[in-house]
Amino acid sequence: MSSTVIDSLRELLGSEHVLLPGALPPQDLAGYHQDWRKRYNGRALAILRPADTAQVAAVVRLAREHRISLVPQGGNTGLVGGGVPDPSGTQLLLSLRRLQQVRRLDAANHTITVEAGCILQQVQEAAQQAGLLFPLSLAAEGSCTIGGNLSTNAGGTQVLRYGNARELCLGLEVVTAEGEIWDGLSGLRKDNTGYDLRDLFIGAEGTLGVITAATLKLYPQPRARMTALAACDSLQDAVDLLNLTQSRCGAALTGFEVMNALSLALVARHFPQLPQPLGPRPWTVLLELSDSEGEAHAREQFESVLEQALERGLINDAAVAETLAQSQAMWHLRESIPLAQSEQGLNIKHDIALPVSRIPGFVASCDALLARQFPGAGLVNFGHLGDGNLHYNLQAPPGVAPAEFLREHEHAVNALVYDQVGTHGGSISAEHGIGQLKRDELAQRKSPVALQLMRQIKQALDPLGLLNPNRVV
Ligand SMILES: Cc1cc2nc3c(=O)[nH]c(=O)nc-3n(C[C@H](O)[C@H](O)[C@H](O)COP(=O)(O)OP(=O)(O)OC[C@H]3O[C@@H](n4cnc5c(N)ncnc54)[C@H](O)[C@@H]3O)c2cc1C
Repeated sequence: MSSTVIDSLRELLGSEHVLLPGALPPQDLAGYHQDWRKRYNGRALAILRPADTAQVAAVVRLAREHRISLVPQGGNTGLVGGGVPDPSGTQLLLSLRRLQQVRRLDAANHTITVEAGCILQQVQEAAQQAGLLFPLSLAAEGSCTIGGNLSTNAGGTQVLRYGNARELCLGLEVVTAEGEIWDGLSGLRKDNTGYDLRDLFIGAEGTLGVITAATLKLYPQPRARMTALAACDSLQDAVDLLNLTQSRCGAALTGFEVMNALSLALVARHFPQLPQPLGPRPWTVLLELSDSEGEAHAREQFESVLEQALERGLINDAAVAETLAQSQAMWHLRESIPLAQSEQGLNIKHDIALPVSRIPGFVASCDALLARQFPGAGLVNFGHLGDGNLHYNLQAPPGVAPAEFLREHEHAVNALVYDQVGTHGGSISAEHGIGQLKRDELAQRKSPVALQLMRQIKQALDPLGLLNPNRVV
């Protein structure tokens, strides 16, 4: 059967866009078969590279006819193993990367309509060329795609002001599990015509349909951006600094990131060329203000807040970027933490959300429990404090092989951390999604009613279960 399907796929897409794993060297396949964290290694029946929405729809219809499952993939930077095939060699990997057109930029409506395979950075640049801002921003922006961003409802560093991918999307074009094309590319900010289909596909991680294009919101470019690093003795001080800055600067506060000492020590170890203006501190906060009135106003606001924070003892040192290069270097520091962790070796990652007010209590109790149960393990704790989102990651104690630590303790570490997250009213996935990594946790921790509703939605939109099976639910 599969040779008939492959022949039909070749006819549809052209042979050069139907890659067969057996015919290619493993290094050419790793970018498709292995996830970014190198935790999951799959093998596809074939890797398909359609050029446009019509080809995607035709592929879905063919796969449906032959009852073959499909795994959509964008830039393959996802962190929960959602975009790589399983090892069976029976799934089709549907790469969206060739859908790269910017279809329309409507400056007066502040929208841009792009295809799913557009790299996030390209979308930011297209907006910038029109004097506008597409604010979604994350460390993987040079390789992740808009389709992947929407399918994971990505967050990133500007959520505090602009919201996550869901809030930045006004419309979608989707190929359904039946192989039909739903054109929902409205640029409307108001549209109360029944159930919100768009919101079903956003964050669905490719399990309900294949996103082929999106209409996204654009914003005016801020006239000035100011970045600073501030040193805090405790996480409670960092939370108080957040509240002080929000009360003084309101929506001008666009970024509020926190990094613990070990996060920055890892960056110093693996990227010693990156300057760390404040040196080692228990907690370092990165703040960013975006101002529509200009640089002098932004600087004045920033300096006044930092002075007040110093007086109140919330911070004990600060460095304000004087140039764009210094500001970029500060962000680079923050964005290098996941890469430094990856250089350090496998670690147990938690992308968790908590009410901001409960973060200090959560960290105090969870740190203490982990230290008691896993002595010597390192806590790499950093993230988007302004959004209540921590990347709370555990690395093996010195002298213990990371892979061995993971194999022996991952389950117990996760149980401990997620129990604490539950106790403190949080979520086990803030922005990375569920994928394969957290599917079983979700089944245990989501309410039975919510799970039942999610399964009913999956059954209604993909009754044959062919779209990214065994992910999410
Ligand atoms: C260094 C680094 C930093 C990161 N920082 C952040 C961060 O700050 N915030 C954050 O939220 N994430 C972050 N991520 C995670 C990742 O970049 C995001 O999840 C991103 O949105 C994934 O996009 P992608 O194109 O790579 O998707 P992929 O990894 O290819 O796929 C992700 C999921 O979406 C599905 N999918 C992909 N394209 C489509 C489509 N067109 N239609 C339907 N389903 C599709 C896949 O099946 C899979 O389930 C980071 C990752 C790295 C490596």
